[in-house]
Amino acid sequence: MDTILVVNAGSSSVKFQVYSIEGEGILRRQLKGQMDGIGSRPRLRASGSTGDPLADRAYPIEGVPDVPAAMDIAGAWLRDEQRIRPIAVGHRVVHGGPDYDRPIQIDHGVVTRLERFIALAPLHQPHNLAPIRSILGNFPELLQVACFDTAFHRTHSAVADHYAIPHQLYAEGVRRYGFHGLSYEYIAKTLPKVAPKIANGRVIVAHLGSGASMCALSAGRSVESTMGFTALDGLPMGTRPGQIDPGVVLYLISEKGMSASTIQNFLYRDCGLKGLSGVSNDMRELEGSEDPRARLAIEYFGYRIGLNAGMLAAALQGLDAFVFTAGIGENSAKIRAHVAGQLAWLGVTLNQAENTRHSQLISGPDSRIPVYVVPTDEELMIAQHTLSLLMKTTSTNQRQERAS
Ligand code: AMP
Repeated sequence: MDTILVVNAGSSSVKFQVYSIEGEGILRRQLKGQMDGIGSRPRLRASGSTGDPLADRAYPIEGVPDVPAAMDIAGAWLRDEQRIRPIAVGHRVVHGGPDYDRPIQIDHGVVTRLERFIALAPLHQPHNLAPIRSILGNFPELLQVACFDTAFHRTHSAVADHYAIPHQLYAEGVRRYGFHGLSYEYIAKTLPKVAPKIANGRVIVAHLGSGASMCALSAGRSVESTMGFTALDGLPMGTRPGQIDPGVVLYLISEKGMSASTIQNFLYRDCGLKGLSGVSNDMRELEGSEDPRARLAIEYFGYRIGLNAGMLAAALQGLDAFVFTAGIGENSAKIRAHVAGQLAWLGVTLNQAENTRHSQLISGPDSRIPVYVVPTDEELMIAQHTLSLLMKTTSTNQRQERAS
């Protein structure tokens, strides 16, 4: 059985999924797992296609000090115990910089180019590249594909792509990239099946998870995003503040004496729902809390989604549909109801019963704009991109063999 491995590596975890190729372009998820607690409490967990547990093992901290070590252990488990020898590997890479507008086959030159974007995403890019390098070293013949969170947004116009700062910085790469692109691409590809009449229209997609952003889609293409240069901008998130006056950062430097790395940690780990509530970064816990600060954090989250929806509707010059996705968007009827309330001025009404059931269409029959819940699947998107490049390279090789 031919398989594709999908890898999503972060600072403290390596997530992986294996898909079997079941004929022309058809993929089926065989297993998923993750090695988490890297450098603290390493643990390998995996389950099969029906959720059946396949592994749950703890490792000593010194045995899994970093991402390459985690990749080695997960890879050995896949090879030796699951007998999986993937014919290609797809990687999530957060930053493709200004030029990569689609997935790309990886070689040493591509890795060198992607290393240049470490400065643009210092908390993600090095960890994304670590398993790529280790597979390149151990299995140089294996096809590897980089799928970027930024690529889907490279269709933005110049006004959407710029900040009002001197051009030299733009030329260096200080641009409004936008992220969560694999999720938005999956939704854009799925919408024609969910709602064929509006898929070609103006749609706002709200990816509401631990990280959260919104994207304006016009005929399935991204025209605007709430995120910009980094994944800090836009909506408040689990631990990130979202849009914030840069003057606050200047205050932290001048009045609090905070260094760049302290501020980086603060903005990525201590703000957002966690900072505002003082209770948790997890929406389930906030919803279950009686603490007034937890209620404020929930209010703030819904309010900012409403504000940003207004901005994106202006970018689209109208709105034909609104879509919720990701952990909170797919599971929290309460947040969806709150957001629908914020969108009432656009003519949105909610069908409470369908919202509580997490149905696909949750707006009322009288709603001027239909509201959908569409589960996202970034890993499947990566697997599909990897398969497409695999088929392309296979047919190129076959052509070359015939010609020689
Ligand atoms: P993600 O990053 O997409 O996995 O989403 C994680 C976020 O989704 C966390 O804030 C979770 O608390 C939230 N979430 C997951 N399930 C639920 C639920 N049933 N109700 C509310 N929030 C949820």
